[in-house]
Amino acid sequence: MSREQLAVERARRAFSTGRSKPLAYRIRQLNNLRRFLVERQSEIAEAAKKDLNRSEVGIQLFETLGLESEIQLVIKNLKKWAAPRAVEKNLVTLSDTLYIQPEPLGVVLVIGAWNYPWAVTLFPLIGAIAAGNAAVVKPSEVCVHTSKVMEELLNAYLDKELYPVVTGGVQETQELLKQRFDHIVYTGNSMVGRIVMEAAAKHLTPVTLELGGKSPCYIDKDCDIPLACRRVTWGKFTNCGQTCIAPDYVLCEASIQDRVIDEMKKCIKEFYTDDPKSFLDYGRIINERHFRRILAMTEDSTVAVGGESDHTECYIAPTILRDVKAGSKVMQEEIFGPLLPIVPVSGLEGAIDFINQGEKSLVIYVFSTDKKLINRLIEETSSGAVLANDCLVHYSVSSLPFGGVGNSGMGCYHGKFSFDQLSHLRSCMVRPLKNEGMNSMRYPPHTPGKLGWARFFLVQAPDLALMGRVGALAVLVAVAGILINAYLL
Ligand code: NAD
Repeated sequence: MSREQLAVERARRAFSTGRSKPLAYRIRQLNNLRRFLVERQSEIAEAAKKDLNRSEVGIQLFETLGLESEIQLVIKNLKKWAAPRAVEKNLVTLSDTLYIQPEPLGVVLVIGAWNYPWAVTLFPLIGAIAAGNAAVVKPSEVCVHTSKVMEELLNAYLDKELYPVVTGGVQETQELLKQRFDHIVYTGNSMVGRIVMEAAAKHLTPVTLELGGKSPCYIDKDCDIPLACRRVTWGKFTNCGQTCIAPDYVLCEASIQDRVIDEMKKCIKEFYTDDPKSFLDYGRIINERHFRRILAMTEDSTVAVGGESDHTECYIAPTILRDVKAGSKVMQEEIFGPLLPIVPVSGLEGAIDFINQGEKSLVIYVFSTDKKLINRLIEETSSGAVLANDCLVHYSVSSLPFGGVGNSGMGCYHGKFSFDQLSHLRSCMVRPLKNEGMNSMRYPPHTPGKLGWARFFLVQAPDLALMGRVGALAVLVAVAGILINAYLL
């Protein structure tokens, strides 16, 4: 039996003991996870420094703080989320008990990516634990050091049978994918997303795919351009552009292109000094393969700012490309690096056309003070999310679902959305074993008279939710009469 198969089988056996289900147990595991994040901060930071040249404050700001806050939110709300959810009744179900009972799915597989390795791996794990599941955690092998810390330390804090960490590369992930899971949460590129979905189909396993794509950013010529550029510069060059929701490219009218470039140049200097290479808060490209891939994208474009690189350190300076065309190399795939192409368009109409010619992205950014313009962009495009007048921050709002649509993914998570995504929302209906009068409508012989009553109950009856208590009581009395009548049909 392979290591992967063994881990899954152990997790399933542990799940079948029922120990992951009591809320107190889920909360204890979540508290342990929180303790891990606090107590092991230095190991986490050290690994992030080696993998992506991230600073200790940076890793807390962009990953572990968000996770701690998510755990806090889950613990606070778990009882409410896990409780039976009452639903509306109609005349036919008036005397029944109707509710939705969230129940654990079973064993969840979490496959993480490398760019924010803690966030993309542990957010789904928090959801899986909260929903009462077992979960097999597969960190990305690309962030070598972080993956090692996850494997060595996480299991010291969590129930290692219920939540094992399995490390490895493509071969190990594919071995895992052969096993039967009850849900798979995959974060990464859309090509592998297809592989995951194909493997899941063999077992009819549902999937959440958190993918990427080219997220556009439209800057309106009448907005506060310096402020817009400051926020876009931050959103783009954080983690060296290796952020799934980074603005991939900027669309703006040709008349403001030079201003946009000048403002961004100022911001790059302000955020990363004149020498980003030796600045603490400027990262590195994850490996040489990605370094070469990103540099090759600049070949047929004009560099307006930056452009320097050093392959010995996988360093690429914050770079802005001007007058970029739809056919340029940099526009053919998600950049996932510190290049910001500026694509001149004729205005909002041109921007919307441009966006709609591409695949649906994780997010569309728009900078404008004109509410009508923002609404038009929302109405005439589609994407996982829309964020107006800022970058990245919607990710941290747990009351909003986070996820893609079309090529950028399916399903969503964060906060209660993770809980629901990784639960089965079971319909429960408990009828009294009496009141047979009502049922006589459905039993043969099927007469026009019975059809008339069925029509009344299902189509014409008043909406109980709108009637209030007195109205509902009156309806109850009427229904009692109808039930007696129904026996006589
Ligand atoms: P990656 O190379 O780390 O791959 C992700 C996972 O897939 C890894 O665990 C890896 O082992 C596995 N994998 C890779 N190739 C495989 C194969 N052939 N068969 C089975 N498993 C395989 O990460 P990546 O794909 O380079 O990640 C970058 C992409 O992820 C970007 O497109 C980015 O936008 C996207 N992303 C999305 C989100 C989100 O929340 N939507 C977050 C982060 C990254």
